[in-house]
Amino acid sequence: MAIDGPAGAGKSSVARRVAGKLGYSYLDTGAMYRAVTLAFQEVHPNVATWTEDKVRELLPRLELSMGVGGQVYLGDRDVTSGLRSKEVTESVSRVSAMGAVREAMVKLQREVTGKLIQGNAEPHGVVIDGRDIGSHVFPGARHRFYLDATLEERARRRQAQEGDGTLQDWMERIERRDRQDSQRTVAPLTIPEGARVVDTTGMTEQEVVSLIVEVVTT
Ligand code: C5P
Repeated sequence: MAIDGPAGAGKSSVARRVAGKLGYSYLDTGAMYRAVTLAFQEVHPNVATWTEDKVRELLPRLELSMGVGGQVYLGDRDVTSGLRSKEVTESVSRVSAMGAVREAMVKLQREVTGKLIQGNAEPHGVVIDGRDIGSHVFPGARHRFYLDATLEERARRRQAQEGDGTLQDWMERIERRDRQDSQRTVAPLTIPEGARVVDTTGMTEQEVVSLIVEVVTT
């Protein structure tokens, strides 16, 4: 099952809960792009010097892997807690627009998903959230959802989650990331063909989860 949508639409928490309810595995592809960004930042702290060639050099040495509880590892280092830092969030769209990064991540996402599906007793599925899952990574996914909400609502959710910044700051940050994610050349954020669009403005997380579970189970 693919769950795509812009920042702050609630994908990750909804996807995690839907997976829990259905007994499916969950793969957070945003966390993978964040881990590449973190690794890259550690080697090249100055954003102005970032080029695709430099990232390409680093990619084969990454040793990125995911734990069953949603942890993300670089080698044997658990980097999960650093993935949502302001520094990573500010730069991740720039790194994830690079073709070499997307190629490596999509390959890994397909491998991991294949293992998750095969490694479990039937019936078993995987809930994957991201920006290009239903449109590019798994266009044949049985269920495709696109979660959205107004910019103001998404900013309000992020502000409540993080507990800092003004609403205006959050709106600007999210709008910038939306723009970068939907205007990049490779696999931009878009509504996948045949996806069910859910406008979550004014809905609780529980309502969104119930709606998705109902669609999938009926
Ligand atoms: O979902 P999350 O906010 O953690 O995603 C972080 C960033 O990773 C997005 O803003 C986007 O640039 C990138 N991303 C992507 N493709 C995906 C998932 C995330 O480009 N499938």
